[in-house]
Amino acid sequence: MTQQPPAILITGGAQGIGKGIASHFLNKGWRVAVLDRDAEAIEACRQDLGEPDNLSLITVDVSREPDVIRALAEAMEWAVRLDALVNNAGIPDPETGPIETLELSEWQRRIDVNLTGAFLMAKHTVPHLRKNQGSIVNIASTRALQSEPNCEAYAASKGGLIALTHSLAISLGPDVRANSISPGWIDVRAWQANAPANPEPLSASDRNQHPSGRVGTPEDVAAMVAYLVSPEARFVTGQNFVIDGGMTRKMIYED
Ligand code: NAD
Repeated sequence: MTQQPPAILITGGAQGIGKGIASHFLNKGWRVAVLDRDAEAIEACRQDLGEPDNLSLITVDVSREPDVIRALAEAMEWAVRLDALVNNAGIPDPETGPIETLELSEWQRRIDVNLTGAFLMAKHTVPHLRKNQGSIVNIASTRALQSEPNCEAYAASKGGLIALTHSLAISLGPDVRANSISPGWIDVRAWQANAPANPEPLSASDRNQHPSGRVGTPEDVAAMVAYLVSPEARFVTGQNFVIDGGMTRKMIYED
């Protein structure tokens, strides 16, 4: 009997960082199931990636449990086995205005998608991941660790995601490992469904606030995901990895 290639499920993978991760794993010969809420982005992704045999694109709202169960059943029927889950779906816009006027619904929306979505996906994929000693990677943010004003809901959702990660690692080991990645500024413009043909170049000051001399790319995040789900990382679980070109290590004093 021929062995199925490994399979990865990526939420929010129709554009942005998730699409970069999907593309990376497709190139490595993995079977990739992309789950995303945005039907238009899925269609654009289908066109861009050419829908090879090892790609499946499925619509889902990760914050709704019945929808997660339905989409996952579809994904597993196609993938048969599951080796990795990347919880990347998120509402990326961090600013929600002053706390005094932040509506409960706006707070709840970010918690529901960024945090509860990852819980629901983990809950329903763990039985499949256990069979292959698989692993989970949650895409958090440096904003779980430091803040600008008026980002309470986003920061709390991503901080919760880091805590969910170590809790999963303790509950699920040694069968399933769980880690999170906290990206800093990742330029996703070229990976969007409606990507501008010629995005405005980033400024020197944008680049210079990073000790690495540049802003990040989805490929930078994909490379860390590839390491974390690989056998080389079999001793790594419950950790959060900051990928920000050193930005959060740089001290900034205003004149
Ligand atoms: P993006 O908007 O390009 O991609 C997010 C994807 O998630 C979209 O395709 C969207 O349709 C999908 N999505 C949103 N809500 C969903 C839901 N309820 N169910 C299923 N899919 C849903 O954003 P991005 O910049 O690529 O961000 C991806 C992840 O990385 C997010 O979790 C974001 O918070 C995190 N992040 C991004 C950056 C950055 O600088 N871009 C930095 C740190 C963390």
